[in-house]
Amino acid sequence: MNFTVKTKQNTLISIRNIYCIGRNYHAHAAELNSKVPKQPFFFQKSLPSLNTSNKFTIPKDREIHHELEVVILIQKNGEEIPVTKTDDYILGYGLGLDLTDREYQNELKRDQLPWLLSKSFQGSAIVSCFQGEKISEDFWLKINGSIRQKGNINQMIFSISEQISFLSGMLPLLEGDLIFTGTPSGVGPIQNGDELELGYGERTIHSLMVK
Ligand code: MG
Repeated sequence: MNFTVKTKQNTLISIRNIYCIGRNYHAHAAELNSKVPKQPFFFQKSLPSLNTSNKFTIPKDREIHHELEVVILIQKNGEEIPVTKTDDYILGYGLGLDLTDREYQNELKRDQLPWLLSKSFQGSAIVSCFQGEKISEDFWLKINGSIRQKGNINQMIFSISEQISFLSGMLPLLEGDLIFTGTPSGVGPIQNGDELELGYGERTIHSLMVK
């Protein structure tokens, strides 16, 4: 199987790993009654969860929550990247949804078990195409035309540079890795028939139908 994402120039990039930071916005940590971490922590989504299509099917009898996130595409291998050098390792910025089976995740959390399977079902790592410029305007998720989540990268607890530097200090980052950089508050369930739009400023950059 081929797991690729697209850049704005229509180049296909093969994806290696999908890393996600947890609790990176104060208001989101609070809405899940979670403590704000003192250092970044990460989990992974499976490669087959990658979804660049415009469709998502909810697994049977499950409640799936949206988590809107800025997603970083890594352009070259790197270890122990200093905070001041991380821009050299970014090929592109996109928006994505870290779709989550919240009930299952809460069960796993309660039993102090890894979250992997509550985050890795088919199609659960939604990503837009990737562009060279930073997403510095407010980014947002609309469901059926109304805004459900809105955030700005300047509200992050750990900046994108701090995330790349920290992660590359713990393991080698590879060309084609993706990093989901955390969700602002407003997470909630999606339903069959919902139309989702991901964008920033005045622009929609990805749309998705739940069916
Ligand atoms: Mg997330």
